Amino acid sequence: MRNFVGQRFAAITLLLAITMGMLNAVGARADQAQITMILATGGTIAGKQAAPGQPGYVSGADSVKSLIEAVPELKDVADVEGKQVSDVGSQNMDAKLWLELLRATSEELARPDVDAVVIAHGTDTLEETAYFLNLTLKSDKPVVVVGAVRPATALSADGPMNIYNATVVATSAAARGRGVLVVMNDEIHYAAEVTKTNTTNPDTMKSPNRGRAGVCDTGECVFFSPTSKRHTTDSAFSIGDEVTSLPYVAIVYAHAGMTAGPIKGALAEGAKGIVVAGVGDGNMSDAALDALTAAAKTGVVVVRSSRVGSGVVRRNIEVDDDTRGFVAAEELNPQKSRILLQLALMTTNEVGTIQDMFHAY
Ligand code: ASP
Repeated sequence: MRNFVGQRFAAITLLLAITMGMLNAVGARADQAQITMILATGGTIAGKQAAPGQPGYVSGADSVKSLIEAVPELKDVADVEGKQVSDVGSQNMDAKLWLELLRATSEELARPDVDAVVIAHGTDTLEETAYFLNLTLKSDKPVVVVGAVRPATALSADGPMNIYNATVVATSAAARGRGVLVVMNDEIHYAAEVTKTNTTNPDTMKSPNRGRAGVCDTGECVFFSPTSKRHTTDSAFSIGDEVTSLPYVAIVYAHAGMTAGPIKGALAEGAKGIVVAGVGDGNMSDAALDALTAAAKTGVVVVRSSRVGSGVVRRNIEVDDDTRGFVAAEELNPQKSRILLQLALMTTNEVGTIQDMFHAY
């Protein structure tokens, strides 16, 4: 059955590649009967209500064992094993947990008997974890991050189908070398593109600028275009065993009547970088511009992103980035800009070099 699912995946992918001329990674699995490791971190996908039908619930209350047992069909797709890495709502994800997850995932990917890793995660910061891993993992093996917006005990929970599709994607040869992927609600997304767009709807994960990476229908999945962004084995970022924290980068949110207060607050807390969730095309008030220009002169790296949710922030449009010493976030939203800037600041605070990174990643 596992071969059957893999062959159907490859056959449908091939058909689409021929008809659409859009695909560059097709092929059957090179090796069979390998393990797909599910690493659970918590989140609503493992959430439990006090009583079925109640709106409130606790994130991460269910174990990885329960997540796997809830989808008996997984045995038709892969030899699945599970490990619990954490049990938090993803609002509590932080650099310490990212580093633990990076090490746990790297360890699994290094095992010759493990083919792929699926990470079950809360949806609130799922895109951030996926992007962090996308930049720091050093493997071509598929890594798929999956979440759900309804707790495991909810009527019509979306977790089981999402885990099923995520595992099918993870075990496909076509997923290799695409960097970290996100699978939810019958869609496949690239880590650099995906963002959460709705508070509670299962159709929350979107790739607003370049579109989704592919689609799934009950385990029949196809990929569209590959990503042109650098990731994993092609990423210059690497996190050694000695790393225990990441540089502090703050996000300040722009709005009508924005004062310099939040910027001063971030600097007082020791921020090495500041990302502005700007209005419109990465804009902000004159008060904010002046405070950030002064900060940039002291070596703090300032990145202009946008609170809008889609679009590209380019250099020198309404803001003279060259004169002020700013970086334009291009396609990255504020939360992903923060991660890229954290990783960049581990080796440089040179604005031109960091601008090139925002272009490449
Ligand atoms: N607060 C939850 C979390 O991110 C929400 C979810 O998973 O959908 O862990």
